[in-house]
Amino acid sequence: MNHPTQRRQLLKIGSAALAMIPVIAFTNRASAAANAGMRAALKYQATPLAEKNCLGCMQFIAGASAKAPGGCKVMPGDTEIAPTGYCTAWVKKA
Ligand code: SF4
Repeated sequence: MNHPTQRRQLLKIGSAALAMIPVIAFTNRASAAANAGMRAALKYQATPLAEKNCLGCMQFIAGASAKAPGGCKVMPGDTEIAPTGYCTAWVKKA
């Protein structure tokens, strides 16, 4: 591991890894968008259906506060689910 060529190789890998941090951060931020395919398939809407809403659904993953958008177990990568939303996969929270 002390061979100069190996050290140079490690430095290159380390530099490449550091250079990827903004890309990864951007990618994660991009994935914070809505999962349009699943939303369409499950007929998601940002408003409740009668008493049924995401906040009362067992699939909901709460956001930073009760009114903040959260996630959903059946909508991978979607972090913009409204607590007041609804879709056809709604299941009453136990
Ligand atoms: S399954 Fe549908 S109703 Fe339940 S939290 Fe997810 S988006 Fe909301």
